[in-house]
Amino acid sequence: MKKHNFSAGPCVLPKSVMQKASEALLDFDQGLSLIEISHRSKPFVDVMENARALALELLGLEGKGYKALFLQGGASTQFLMVALNLLEKRAGYLNTGTWSDKAIKEAKIYDDIYEVASSKSANFNYIPKGYDISEDYDYFHCTSNNTIFGTQMKRFPESPIPMVCDMSSDIFSRQLDFTQFDLIYAGAQKNMGPAGTTLVIVKEDILGKVSRKIPSMMDYKVHIGKGSMFNTPPVFAVYVSMLTMQWLKDLGGIKAIEEENEKKARLIYSEIDLNPLFKGYSVKEDRSNMNATFTLENENLKETFDAMWKEAGINGLNGHRSVGGYRASMYNALSLDSVKVLVEVMSDLESKA
Ligand code: PMP
Repeated sequence: MKKHNFSAGPCVLPKSVMQKASEALLDFDQGLSLIEISHRSKPFVDVMENARALALELLGLEGKGYKALFLQGGASTQFLMVALNLLEKRAGYLNTGTWSDKAIKEAKIYDDIYEVASSKSANFNYIPKGYDISEDYDYFHCTSNNTIFGTQMKRFPESPIPMVCDMSSDIFSRQLDFTQFDLIYAGAQKNMGPAGTTLVIVKEDILGKVSRKIPSMMDYKVHIGKGSMFNTPPVFAVYVSMLTMQWLKDLGGIKAIEEENEKKARLIYSEIDLNPLFKGYSVKEDRSNMNATFTLENENLKETFDAMWKEAGINGLNGHRSVGGYRASMYNALSLDSVKVLVEVMSDLESKA
């Protein structure tokens, strides 16, 4: 039976990508597996170069002073790497959820952090707006999509200082003017590939301005200087990310997938709003197109609903423990048909209740 994978990440990836990735595990180059050849061999260097170029191309950032890197340690390592490379005295952070909160905690190890705004007191069910960003800060940090709470920044502030954005859960899902950001990072395991690598896109001219000594593995300049090969890169994760970016490019790029993502989001949210048995978690204007969070109005229906969606082949619908209820993660590779199946189950519940 076909599984409809609504998992928050690691998550669904395109079937054709899985197929090619499996083939490369067995025979990538003249009978050798992708994971047994040298990362310095031409076939793999080509993969890395292609992946770096595709990331910039898809985001419309080629030739604009940006470099793409595929690093390790997850987006969580970027929480401290950003601070180590950019934080001299004080930075401004927008606190919109667990991941922003963690980014703030790591940066605070190094220097002073100012929370420009926070929605913590409302358990992060909205995106704060109308805050000021001081010119005196070294940079401003925000999280474009809050995977756990299901909120998404629809607009970004005009920042007078470098803007850093954690795009782990909505990279490559919607068109934005990506030149407004000076540093973007994203763990691969949502819209890009398997866990194990983190995409970092950095505008080179913001680097080299802090006075501290930065350990080599933590230094973006070192990684740029070595073509994202300072140490052995996570070859499999980079290869699958390259295939997924190629898949997206062949589909028509971010513009094409954004239309699909909007259809999926409209479908699920209209069911959440029209079906009296469900209630959306986040405020409407800030709802995420990637992670739809919702709860049951009547908890007594939980057992029936859980049995129904599992029976329909749906996977990964349980909400994060800090929100409860349900979370339908609808990343790029999840089909509209899978969302239709979920919506059908939700409306069947209404007719049964
Ligand atoms: N930021 C966001 C927005 C996330 O969703 C996640 C993981 N779900 C992280 C950061 C942490 O990523 P990692 O597990 O790759 O460190």
